[in-house]
Parts: sequence; structure tokens; C-alpha cells
Amino acid sequence: RSKTCGRNTVQFFKPQEESGGLAAMELETRFRRAVEFALMSQALGGDAGADPAGGKLELHYQPQVDQHGRVVGAEALARWTDPSLGRVPPDRFIAAAERNGLIIPFGRWALRQAAAQARKWRDQMGNRSPRVAVNVSAVQFADDRFIEEVSSVINTYHLLPGMLELELTETVLMQDADDAARRISTLRQMGVAVAIDDFGTGYSSLAYLHRLTIDTLKVDRSFVAGMSGERRGPGAPASGPLQGSGAAVTRAIISMGRSLGMNVLAEGVETDAQQQLLVRMGCDQMQGYLFSPPVPAEKFAELIALGNGVLPIPVAIARPA
Ligand code: C2E
Ligand code: MG
Ligand code: MG
Ligand code: MG
Repeated sequence: RSKTCGRNTVQFFKPQEESGGLAAMELETRFRRAVEFALMSQALGGDAGADPAGGKLELHYQPQVDQHGRVVGAEALARWTDPSLGRVPPDRFIAAAERNGLIIPFGRWALRQAAAQARKWRDQMGNRSPRVAVNVSAVQFADDRFIEEVSSVINTYHLLPGMLELELTETVLMQDADDAARRISTLRQMGVAVAIDDFGTGYSSLAYLHRLTIDTLKVDRSFVAGMSGERRGPGAPASGPLQGSGAAVTRAIISMGRSLGMNVLAEGVETDAQQQLLVRMGCDQMQGYLFSPPVPAEKFAELIALGNGVLPIPVAIARPA
């Protein structure tokens, strides 16, 4: 190729020309190394020290609260900082890992890490410890060894029913709905709770939803964000607080989820107004920056201690003068 391209070959290898290919390869190489190091460190009981390459792969945890602000759960969210790429957002490295297969070893690491954390918190806080939710990619869920792995972490960390929740997206249900339904019911028999993440953004069939044994329905944050918009819909009352079109969708999802006996959790709650509206709509649980961003595990335990299990922590207590 280099011979036939002649002059253009030089162009081809200029950094600005290769941002697709080479940058993607570099991301893959570096992420592979980060995952390998994380798995090795995990196998050594977290005592491998710092990655000599200087990278860091870890889980942060975001509180999930009930209607009274009591912390009931913690969603594990992956954080990766690379010495040369900097902090890479999960949307980027997860999507890449799904394409190159690294999602399997990464997912195994994340599941173990979160399960170990659930055990640690249970030992520290007793039955007031938060259930830990882990995101599971559709690729990982479809893997033959997935159920076995979940069973293995339950045994390793002596997880009791309800301590672990797996967040699946609608993509999982779209691929092979019957197979997904079987796997979900197997997981639930093992004492694992199952959540549908980003609900309303995919194309899962409502006909299937009622046949699935789902514990938690997570209302996508785009609907929550659209709740307090300036728009007044055609059917909306002429007076009273303005509600955006997201409010109608959120209300519909909450009422459907509740009538199917599911726990409904709203994502991306950022304001008091959103929280109040959601509580009025009968939403069971909430998660979002209003309560806390995702934080390292030690910080999570501090938040619980500081607020006596309730969030948000009043500003006066959170930031003493
Ligand atoms: P997700 O599972 O829907 O996670 C919620 C995302 O919303 C997180 O982004 C979280 O930081 C963000 N968020 C939380 N509260 C608020 C809020 O009030 N406002 C706004 N604007 N955003 C909020 P993050 O951490 O960047 O993760 C993005 C996505 O990457 C996740 O979406 C999930 O799909 C994926 N992901 C992250 N960690 C993992 C993992 O360990 N495994 C897999 N398979 N996917 C993961
Ligand atoms: Mg999630
Ligand atoms: Mg989500
Ligand atoms: Mg998402």
C-alpha cells in the first residue's frame, strides 16, 4: 500500500489524519493493559500497588435514595484514568470494549469488584448496607459463562438475596427476548435483583415487559430532565407549575412500572423541583446529582455517616464553615 499511495502515504500517517484508526488502537491497547492490571490486582486481593504504567481503573458509587432520601442503593460506575489519554468517559471505553471483546474480562472485573464492595459494606453497616447495582453490557449478558460467574461471586462473597442488582438495558431484551427472560428468572432465583436501565430510550416491547420478572425500572434521565421544561402541553391545566413533556412520559412509566409491581427509580435527578414532582407522581426511588455524584467507595461510606443515611446532606453539615 505504501508504494502505490506514493506521496499520500506521508499524509496518511500524520497524526491529524489518523485520529480514527490509531487513536482507537491506542485506546484499545491501553484499556487492555488497564483491565489486565486491574484483574491481576483483584486476584491479589487489591494489593498489587499502583499500576507501573500509571493508569487507574476503579469503580465509583452513586447513591440511590427512597422517597425520604434514605440511601438504599449504590450504582457502580466505572472510572478509567490513563496517564496519556487522561480521564476517558465510560461511554467511550465501554462502547470500544463491546466491539473488541474486552467487555468480557472488564465486566468480570467490575462484577467481582462490586460484589466485594457489597460484602464490605454489609460487614460494616449490617442490614442497612446499600444494595449494589452493577451495569451489565448486552454482550456480557449474552456470554455463556455469565450466569456461572454471577453464581461464583455470590458464593465467594456470601451475598444474600437483594445485596446485588444487575442493570440491563433494553438492548438485552431485543436480541432474544425468550432467552433473556429465562436468564433473568435464573438470576432472580439466585437472589440477584434485576433492573432495566435507561428505560424508555430503547425499543423493548411492552408485551414482553409484563412477562419479565424485573425488580427495578429505571426511568431514563432524559425524561426527568424534560420534566421541568417551560412547555405547557395541550392537555395541561392553564395554571399551576409548568411541566415539560418529559413529565407526561415519566408519569406514564411510573404508573406502568408500579402497576406491574416494579420498583421505579428515576435517574438524573438534579433539582428539588424534580424530586418533589417525582415523589408526588409516586416514584419509589431516585438517583442524581441532587443527592450525590458517583464517588469513590470510601467517600460513599462517609456520605452515609455524615447524613445519617439520608441525602442530600444539608449544606451547613456538608461544608462546615
Ligand atoms: P448509566 O448506567 O445510565 O449511568 C448513569 C450515568 O448518568 C452515569 O454516567 C452517571 O454519572 C450519570 N449521572 C448520574 N446522575 C446524574 C445527574 O444528575 N445528571 C446527569 N447529567 N448525569 C448523571 P457515567 O458514569 O458517565 O456512565 C455512562 C454510562 O456508561 C452508564 O450509563 C453505563 O451505561 C456505562 N457504564 C458505566 N460503568 C459501567 C460498567 O461498569 N459496566 C458497563 N457495562 N457499563 C458501564
Ligand atoms: Mg446504569
Ligand atoms: Mg441509566
Ligand atoms: Mg446509560
